[in-house]
Amino acid sequence: MTPPACIMLLEEWGDRMEYQAVIGLEVHAQLLTASKLFCGCSTRFGSPPNSNTCPVCLGLPGALPVLNREAVSMAVRTALALECTVNPVSIFARKNYFYPDLPKGYQISQYDRPLGEHGRLTVLSGERSETGRISGRRRKSFGIRRIHLEEDAGKSVHDGMPESMAKSYIDLNRTGVPLVEIVSEPDFTTSQEAYDYLTQLRKTLLYLGVCDGNMEEGSLRCDANVSVRPAGSEQLGTKVEIKNLNSFRFLQKALDYEISRQIRVLSEGGRVVQETRLWDEEHQSTFPMRSKEEAHDYRYFPEPDLPPLHLERSWLERLIETLPELPQARTERFMSEYGLSDDEALLLTATIRSADYYEACARASNNPRAAFNWMTVELAYALKNSGKQIEECPLAPDRLGELIRKIDAGDLSGKMAKTVFEEMYRSGESPDEIIRRLGLVQLSDESALAEVIDRVIAANPKQAAEFRAGKERVLGYFVGRVMKETKGHANPGVLNALLQKKLRE
Ligand code: ADP
Ligand code: MG
Ligand code: ZN
Repeated sequence: MTPPACIMLLEEWGDRMEYQAVIGLEVHAQLLTASKLFCGCSTRFGSPPNSNTCPVCLGLPGALPVLNREAVSMAVRTALALECTVNPVSIFARKNYFYPDLPKGYQISQYDRPLGEHGRLTVLSGERSETGRISGRRRKSFGIRRIHLEEDAGKSVHDGMPESMAKSYIDLNRTGVPLVEIVSEPDFTTSQEAYDYLTQLRKTLLYLGVCDGNMEEGSLRCDANVSVRPAGSEQLGTKVEIKNLNSFRFLQKALDYEISRQIRVLSEGGRVVQETRLWDEEHQSTFPMRSKEEAHDYRYFPEPDLPPLHLERSWLERLIETLPELPQARTERFMSEYGLSDDEALLLTATIRSADYYEACARASNNPRAAFNWMTVELAYALKNSGKQIEECPLAPDRLGELIRKIDAGDLSGKMAKTVFEEMYRSGESPDEIIRRLGLVQLSDESALAEVIDRVIAANPKQAAEFRAGKERVLGYFVGRVMKETKGHANPGVLNALLQKKLRE
């Protein structure tokens, strides 16, 4: 194994001790429902503070929660996609703690009977080199311990407030917004595995259309649990929980930092303290959260205002039918069906839109390799230049496929194809319309070319004689003349062969 999976450390007396990292992730994903989990308030992001609230989500006395069916459907679809066992009966529980952004004094969550359990996510995970390149991707399955539904808390706002007004502000718009929490098994041994899992989990949520996956805005949040243990040991080490990881890069850096820190503590004869630490991007390190901010005993108990959630079998069966082809299956199919490498397939399946675009183009072109090249070079460049995403692409995938067919049929040279591509992207016309409008016909037709060649040879008897006498490089002269006559439209391959034949006649 290579660092940082196992980091070799020289102990004082010269013994070598190898440590292995163990990581588990807890991911919160905000569900894309229009209304909150237990009331009809809007979930819209960016509304004026406290405008999306009502007696239920404000926790006013006597207000009763009513479960949002759409949130259950999204959570169940997620559980199914993660190969979980969906419990026919699950139970809502109160998780009690005090915090200013939690007006009820408890969060409605699920505890000993969650919606789903014992799932897994399969990922093509590799190893990261010093330069950041990922190589040696292999299929790995990581266990999912549980997935449950819960409501979000509100937000305390400190930023952007004047220094002189040392106050906290509370925005309760987010209070009661539906979340799914997805808890992994402690199955990752490197930061790269955790990174690959989170990437794939995010992709899966996007394919399902249940979460927008935006980590910066907090619709996808990840806490990481890390411990280290002597390599080969069966027993898990003491874990530290890291919070404040609002990007993929932070996750990876925080894990690497924390793994080294714990190994250093252990190799110096110390003990890892079980605590919650925060990632500090400015200092590139983790530091302990003030311990009073940690509430260990939530005194969970069944939520008295909500009955157990019963899922009907027929409803579950209908939900199974709504599942799309999931990212892992699609990636593997792209590799086998279109001959793509793992990195190429992962790139194209990043979103359903780009995967759909590629498939339509690959099929229309009958040339999956060329479709990949056009999409990732010319099209990617054009989209970037016009500041567009693939879903706003003005060029339909079957049109691009048509263009590729024309190149393969010898109707267009590479250079002409680029011109046609640019015009297609700009005007949305079909390749034929553009070819006609710009007069970009490549002459591949032997009889049409033969006529021009005959004329050029007849007009240059001296050069023709030189060629026949063995001066082969005169051929270039003739190629140039024919190209000039045809305004560069002669198919070079056809022209070359035909010229040689005619000159030798
Ligand atoms: P807690 O009760 O503190 O929340 P859990 O047992 O519920 O702990 O686990 C929370 C997360 O921590 C899970 O993702 C799990 O895989 C991970 N985890 C548990 N034990 C360890 C450990 N020793 N090292 C790393 N991760 C761990
Ligand atoms: Mg936990
Ligand atoms: Zn409300």
